[in-house]
Amino acid sequence: MATPFAGKRALVTGAGKGIGRATVKALVECGAEVIALSRTEADLHSLKQEPFYLTFQSPLWHEVPSVKTECVDVSDLPAVEAVVKGAGPIHLLVNNAGVTQLLSVLDTTPDAYDRIMSVNLKAPVFLSQYVARGMVERGDGGAIVNVSSVASSVALTDHLAYCTSKAGMDMATKVMALELGPHKIRVNAVNPTVVMTDMGKMAWSDPVKSSNAMTQIPLGRFAEEADVVNAIVFLLSDQSSMLSGVTLPVDGGRLVH
Ligand code: NDP
Repeated sequence: MATPFAGKRALVTGAGKGIGRATVKALVECGAEVIALSRTEADLHSLKQEPFYLTFQSPLWHEVPSVKTECVDVSDLPAVEAVVKGAGPIHLLVNNAGVTQLLSVLDTTPDAYDRIMSVNLKAPVFLSQYVARGMVERGDGGAIVNVSSVASSVALTDHLAYCTSKAGMDMATKVMALELGPHKIRVNAVNPTVVMTDMGKMAWSDPVKSSNAMTQIPLGRFAEEADVVNAIVFLLSDQSSMLSGVTLPVDGGRLVH
């Protein structure tokens, strides 16, 4: 892969599994130094054992390891702020950590609602604020990508809090793009359809449910992690230097109807 991020430091949340983990690898391959933040130490440990990490931490290639790991829950905002303060300049941010719990409207509890909103919406908003303050202070701009979902605009059964959180994330993306644009900070979102990560399997493993969902997708398949990662890398890169406030479907055409 090309190296559009040489000399850039990126922070990726939810980096232990799924889309976040794949994003870390892609950014390292593109030359970035990555702070991989997630909440399960074993995942971060195994990330550091991966061949890409061992290859790129060679002093011949780079003076410091290309991945630094931080075991933090994104909803612990003081801990997240401390990571940002201790990280040095952050040029690229991927707000990827997300959770869901399948609960009907009638069964959703205040606790479940708060937990989903706190991880999926409140944490990305404040992490973006902490990172953007540094970008504004330095004056050299930056790029933020929020990992939203088609669920921000399509109502899904048993996803009340999740859909609401992603709809909020889309609007937060636009307001941040509006206010931070004058500081050369671009803020965009990617909105994938189902990806069969752990989260995807939890919600879409039932064959009847998944084949019904797939019939809604003109391209006739769910997304792969790489489909989402490619869109994230594009929105972080200078290839998208005139794009801000975009909510980019990665959905095989799901949102055409
Ligand atoms: P996974 O469940 O596979 O991975 C999520 C990662 O985020 C895990 O490493 C998880 O850690 C971490 N994480 C979760 N909560 C926190 C937290 N509070 N603090 C720090 N890290 C946390 O999910 P995906 O890769 O599928 O999802 C990534 C993003 O993509 C999410 O925002 C999701 O909403 C979005 N998305 C996913 C779709 C799908 O079908 N998979 C479709 C559309 C959007 P741990 O395992 O330790 O909890």
